[in-house]
Amino acid sequence: MSVLRSTLLGLSRNHWLGKRLPNSAAGRRAARKFMPGERLEDAIEAGKRLQKDHIAVVLTELGEDITDAADAQRAAQSYELALDALAEAGLDTHVSVKPTHLGLHLDPGDTAERISALAEKAASLNGMVFVDMEGSNLVDRTLELYETVKRRHPNVGLCLQAYLKRTPADVERLLPLQPRIRLVKGTYREHAEIAFQSRRDVSDAYERVARQLVAGGADVRLASQDVDLLRRLDLDCEIQMMYGVRAADQRRLAAGGKRVRVLISYGSEWFAWYMRRLAERPANLWFAIRAAVGS
Ligand SMILES: Cc1cc2nc3c(=O)[nH]c(=O)nc-3n(C[C@H](O)[C@H](O)[C@H](O)COP(=O)(O)OP(=O)(O)OC[C@H]3O[C@@H](n4cnc5c(N)ncnc54)[C@H](O)[C@@H]3O)c2cc1C
Repeated sequence: MSVLRSTLLGLSRNHWLGKRLPNSAAGRRAARKFMPGERLEDAIEAGKRLQKDHIAVVLTELGEDITDAADAQRAAQSYELALDALAEAGLDTHVSVKPTHLGLHLDPGDTAERISALAEKAASLNGMVFVDMEGSNLVDRTLELYETVKRRHPNVGLCLQAYLKRTPADVERLLPLQPRIRLVKGTYREHAEIAFQSRRDVSDAYERVARQLVAGGADVRLASQDVDLLRRLDLDCEIQMMYGVRAADQRRLAAGGKRVRVLISYGSEWFAWYMRRLAERPANLWFAIRAAVGS
């Protein structure tokens, strides 16, 4: 992992910066690269634009590491509004949630209940709920959470991170549940003992896990902007990318008949998420600086 990437990921946990940057006009301008705006309405409007290019959407409200149960409950309610707004706009009712936004640090049982309630609502609208994967210290709890909810609600999916060396074993554990899996490379700062570090090793691991999932009968979504890797894999799976990243490729893939879904983020708690996006491609830092100074 490069020093710059590691520094940016370290800064993503800096509370002082996290309080100030989102309140500055410069910070907001810079974050616009990856989000259409902070309001749910902004995300819905962006979803409608993508739909015209035959690109489906999944919405996520930014927020993580909640330490107050009332905030976790508010986040769950806000996702209910998002599902209604998606349905009203004629978009797929798909949302993606972070377990720690819905209270995982406080009470895994309550978090499972909140996700179950969302899954029930999403099912009534023919939709889906995806559970994000966060730092490696949360993987065991997130797998247990997923197993609990998935037994009751088939329309729930889970994100797995290919960079973690444990992931092939986690796949074997989950396969009997006929899981819906969104496979990503992984975006957090993890130790070399537990996670592959080089781009090559992570891509190879991604390829292995993707094929393992497909061979095991899982319902797989390949979430990656690495179009060379996607081409090499050549699997008949939905492709997921982030809003604002490789938009031309998203349109090209959709026009060529691939199933493409774009993750649209919204909300005011974007600091840690935004720093992870910068770390994924340090060249974004220069874009951020230019946007921040308004050039
Ligand atoms: C739909 C979706 C959901 C995700 N959910 C999770 C999750 O729950 N947990 C988790 O740990 N991670 C998640 N991620 C992030 C993921 O782990 C990677 O960090 C991220 O997708 C970058 O990896 P990549 O596969 O695109 O490959 P990379 O090798 O990182 O990127 C390939 C190419 O894509 C472009 N690119 C990639 N990222 C950016 C960027 N930020 N800005 C500009 N260009 C970029 C660059 O051209 C780069 O060369 C998610 C990603 C997506 C698309």
